[in-house]
Amino acid sequence: MIPDRMKRVNEACKEALGEILQEKIKDPRVGFVTVTGVEVTPDLHQAKVWLSVLGSDEEVETAMRVLEKAKGFMRKELGMRVRMRYTPELKIILDHGPEISERLQGILHELEEEWQLKELERIVSALKETAIIGIASHINPDGDSVGSLLALAMVLDGAGRRVRPCIPEPWKFPPQYGFLPGREMLIDPGDLEEGLELFVALDCSNPERLGPLQAKAESARTLINIDHHEDNKLYGTVNLVEAAASSTSEIVLAIIKEGGWSLEPEVATCLYTGVVTDTGRFQHRNTSPRTFALAGELASAGADIFQVVKEVYDNQSLQYTRLLGRALQRLDVVEDHSLGYSYITQQDLDETGATLPETEDLIDHLRAVKDIRVVALFKELEDGRVRVSLRSRDGYEVGPIARAMGGGGHALAAGYTSDKDITRSIEVLIEKLRDRRG
Ligand code: 5GP
Ligand code: MN
Repeated sequence: MIPDRMKRVNEACKEALGEILQEKIKDPRVGFVTVTGVEVTPDLHQAKVWLSVLGSDEEVETAMRVLEKAKGFMRKELGMRVRMRYTPELKIILDHGPEISERLQGILHELEEEWQLKELERIVSALKETAIIGIASHINPDGDSVGSLLALAMVLDGAGRRVRPCIPEPWKFPPQYGFLPGREMLIDPGDLEEGLELFVALDCSNPERLGPLQAKAESARTLINIDHHEDNKLYGTVNLVEAAASSTSEIVLAIIKEGGWSLEPEVATCLYTGVVTDTGRFQHRNTSPRTFALAGELASAGADIFQVVKEVYDNQSLQYTRLLGRALQRLDVVEDHSLGYSYITQQDLDETGATLPETEDLIDHLRAVKDIRVVALFKELEDGRVRVSLRSRDGYEVGPIARAMGGGGHALAAGYTSDKDITRSIEVLIEKLRDRRG
């Protein structure tokens, strides 16, 4: 049995070491560490210190290594805080107690939720208190960024704000979204004011995604970053980034609810478009039971669900259909099925009469081919650079490849822009995939 005197010593040391870790150990590699127990020998020469560390095996190992090095310092600090005849040597032991780390995980989760709620409240009050609000989607906008942009613009306009919604040049408005309500509110990006009080960036994982609007967005007093990409750079003054959300449109719906604004059918149609396109019609991995509940809610609010599919998916031009034929014809499979790729040149666009914004879903036709691991589509831009879209078919992560190439995106759907011509861009990607396979 441990005598009471030693119990008091253990308790005092545990408390002091907890404080030391919190106040004095600033190394970010240490992360979230808790002292779960201390046992000092009766002669005060040694103290066993059990620590619980949160993180992956590798993070835990790194944290323990750093703490091992900081032992002497911690001992000295302990000596100053707890009066003892002798300050014990510290023996640091990793506490594997599963309940403890689960409990901590729970606390962390709650903290995160609380934090997100605070962000949501902050955003809603900013939107309610500011008279003029700039809003933008990313360059080469897709259904989610256009849908969330128009939805938020309509809601704020209805609430009496003066909104300045725009899509960064040079990409033209994707024709398949031409039916969306609220489109007439869009302003020319050139007319957007500098130094606005409030600016909202939607679906942009980094500020460069705002293209030529980046400087204007960053000149705003408050920049709100609303997004669902896990690689988001948290570049805003306020960041509402929810990687578990199916789409940015889902987060905009949360904002509308938090603000107590009514969900008009036109707004619901825009948000539904965002959810349907970003989940690939409820088929991609970002689809969850919550997504279906959300779709139900939007349909109940009057979203025109049939018009959305008809306009977005059953509306392809003859020109684009011919271009699709060329791209399918060219599909090449290399590296023992590691990669399937195709490409579109400016000459193809000239000859078929199709436009690049129409090609947003073309890659899905390539992705449908069985036994290929990664699919890539190379699209030549007017300035000679090449837009590369990547999709994974069997869980192989393409996000890191896109990031290594200067782009970004999700684990299974990502993209980047290459400065090289199409032939060279294809070669570089093949080399990159080969390197990663080792
Ligand atoms: P897509 O191939 O449809 O253009 O893009 C797929 C995904 O990757 C989208 O979620 C898009 O936001 C992201 N993405 C595409 N290109 C880039 C890029 O250049 N930078 C970043 N950060 N994300 C990109
Ligand atoms: Mn999105």
